[in-house]
Amino acid sequence: MGVGTIVLYVGCMFAGKTSRLIETLEVLATKQTEMLIIKHSSDDRYSSEPVLVTHTGKQYPCVPRKTLMPLLEQPEFLNSSAIMVDEGQFFPDLYDFARISAECYGKDVYVGALDTNYKRKLFPEIAKLMAISDETHKLFAKCYYCGSKALFSMKLDESIKEHIGGADMYRAVCRKHYCSNV
Ligand SMILES: [Zn+2]
Repeated sequence: MGVGTIVLYVGCMFAGKTSRLIETLEVLATKQTEMLIIKHSSDDRYSSEPVLVTHTGKQYPCVPRKTLMPLLEQPEFLNSSAIMVDEGQFFPDLYDFARISAECYGKDVYVGALDTNYKRKLFPEIAKLMAISDETHKLFAKCYYCGSKALFSMKLDESIKEHIGGADMYRAVCRKHYCSNV
């Protein structure tokens, strides 16, 4: 068995990470590639059914999971040649899962993830994975306040403890507006 690849799409909130995963997914679908699409199990912001919805409205079912390693011996994993992980920062075992999937099972692994939280603290699993990825694409949003390149996620109310929370609690902001609001 050959080895696969690891491709990351990272950036702040609203940077289009999931959209890039969907674009990749649509390309792979035209090649009849068997795909396993994984979302974090408590990510129910956009739909009660775990699906990725393309711009044309086509829905791809996702497997909801809290951790990834138990998938390694599952039929849906073994039968897929491409593995997609959305919201990768939420998985505590992402690094090992992606590495083993690519290096021991020959899978092509695509991950969309925040690189840091709103305090610009690195997500360790993402930082480690960036170091061994074939490709890391840093994506950007538009600053909510001035429209220039947004690098960071800013939380509107520090007192709200919600872990995943609604996207409406966050703004994508440029460096200048991040610095003027923290
Ligand atoms: Zn700005």
